[in-house]
Amino acid sequence: MSEAQVIDGKAFAAKLRERVGEQAAKFEAASGRKAGLAVVLVGEDPASQVYVRSKHKATVAAGMESFEHRLPADTSEADLLALVEQLNVDPAVDGILVQLPLPDHLDEQAVIAAISPDKDVDGFHVTNAGRLAVGQSGFVPCTPLGCMMLLTDRLGDLSGLEAVVIGRSNIVGKPMAQLLLDANATVTIAHSRTKDLPGVVKRADIVVAAVGRAEMVKAEWLKDGATVIDVGINRLPPAEGADKGRLVGDVDYAGAQGVAGAITPVPGGVGPMTIAVLLRNTVVAAFRNEGLDLPEGTI
Ligand code: NDP
Repeated sequence: MSEAQVIDGKAFAAKLRERVGEQAAKFEAASGRKAGLAVVLVGEDPASQVYVRSKHKATVAAGMESFEHRLPADTSEADLLALVEQLNVDPAVDGILVQLPLPDHLDEQAVIAAISPDKDVDGFHVTNAGRLAVGQSGFVPCTPLGCMMLLTDRLGDLSGLEAVVIGRSNIVGKPMAQLLLDANATVTIAHSRTKDLPGVVKRADIVVAAVGRAEMVKAEWLKDGATVIDVGINRLPPAEGADKGRLVGDVDYAGAQGVAGAITPVPGGVGPMTIAVLLRNTVVAAFRNEGLDLPEGTI
């Protein structure tokens, strides 16, 4: 069997960001203001700071307004909820993202529930989860929507294909399964209690791995020609003399290349799609919030 095709998420995300930029310019021309994304960061978590910085840069580069709110780690829940409420009613803000994880004393579910579903560009609010479940339009979490874009770009119609999603989190696994189901795939969700995971994966034309365990999915688990989307981001222990270990996904990439039909690399696969889809959701929110039509299928 020949080498799997590499699904270049970085290149796809760059094109998506370009299309978002075009729509953001159209939005500004139609409404007289820029689309706006507010990002709230509580505390000093280094990884979260990196994410927030790159979201800010990408938002500005797409021609949108970025509002950053950095709050100290000991911020009270009441103060955080008050900020969310202020952003909910601010007409310059189309999307609100509260960077997770929050410090332990803050209730993440209560904070997410306080965000207006119409500004919930992360798609984590129960109203948006419910809309996805019943097939109404709302906001879909960025990572699974990005995976779906890569899959449909590669495979076109997914009707009747066997899809196995490994992982059942609210932010990746469950919405991913829902999107695949909506696209008429036959979907199995696997998790830590699944029996014979290799046997379940072997059936799959599409494998989405969202587990958080380095290189857990082995080449011999895969069906010949399967399309593999690797959501996992895991850092291996550093090699001797290095200060940082290598980043790997949940799939044994080198081995899988000899069996899969196509596979996303880590890094450079799903990761870059997440921010691009966040920008996409924000510009969609802007059109909806102003009551303007966004031409279907443009982004
Ligand atoms: P969670 O920890 O919330 O969920 C992990 C899931 O994997 C759970 O459903 C768990 O099952 C399942 N699982 C754990 N161990 C096994 C096992 N041995 N066999 C089968 N299933 C198992 O993680 P997330 O969904 O938040 O993230 C998953 C991965 O994706 C992480 O590596 C994360 O870093 C990455 N990620 C990447 C993003 C990106 O932009 N590329 C964005 C978001 C996440 P159970 O429910 O039974 O415990």
